Amino acid sequence: MSIANNLTQIKSSLPEQVTLVAVSKTKPVANLMEAYDAGQRIFGENKIQEMTDKYEAMPKDIEWHMIGHVQTNKVKYMAPYVNLVHGVDSFKLLKEINKQAAKNNRVINCLLQMHIAEEDTKFGLDESELNEILDHLKLDKNELKNIKIIGLMGMATFTEDQNQIKKEFLRLKSIFDKLNTEHSQMNTLSMGMSGDYELAISCGSTMVRIGSSIFGNRNYQ
Ligand SMILES: *Cc1c(COP(=O)(O)O)cnc(C)c1O
Repeated sequence: MSIANNLTQIKSSLPEQVTLVAVSKTKPVANLMEAYDAGQRIFGENKIQEMTDKYEAMPKDIEWHMIGHVQTNKVKYMAPYVNLVHGVDSFKLLKEINKQAAKNNRVINCLLQMHIAEEDTKFGLDESELNEILDHLKLDKNELKNIKIIGLMGMATFTEDQNQIKKEFLRLKSIFDKLNTEHSQMNTLSMGMSGDYELAISCGSTMVRIGSSIFGNRNYQ
């Protein structure tokens, strides 16, 4: 199967309200251009340097999403162009994104990453940390004008156990619903990857991050 075919097939299976982020990490620009030529305009990367190189090499009507863990000292490299940062997990990081966005006269969209998996290797906030950040934001309303929090992101445990994954997605959805009733601009729920996006959508995802099902398996050598 070609990248274009994979993309068409996946797109046609997604409900209209679900946004597809094509996760292109480790893949060469030629592969991304194949997806671009097939109509894809949203790409997700997990390393700022790699994303910036691709941003520079590719057409400028692409939306770039940072889906990986973000180091504060690297925010400045993506601040001129990034559209959505999925993995925000501290107030300190939000402040840095705000600062760098302001320098570029931009507003950068952010998702707060929640820890929903059982593994402790995955980044993210628990509910009390989430509420702490939201409280900070209420107090700092006038300060952080250059970021906009538009929702939540989460990754389920890496397991074959569909019930486990479903339980985690539903928990994230219920946190999201609570937030969404209080803050109407928080309307994006980023959950679901190649192996679990259909389940994620049935649990209420509005944004799926799909890599290997579009571009093939990644080779990390
Ligand atoms: C790599 C990655 C994906 C895509 O994974 P696939 O299984 O290849 O679809 C999605 N989300 C995040 C955060 C990732 O790092």
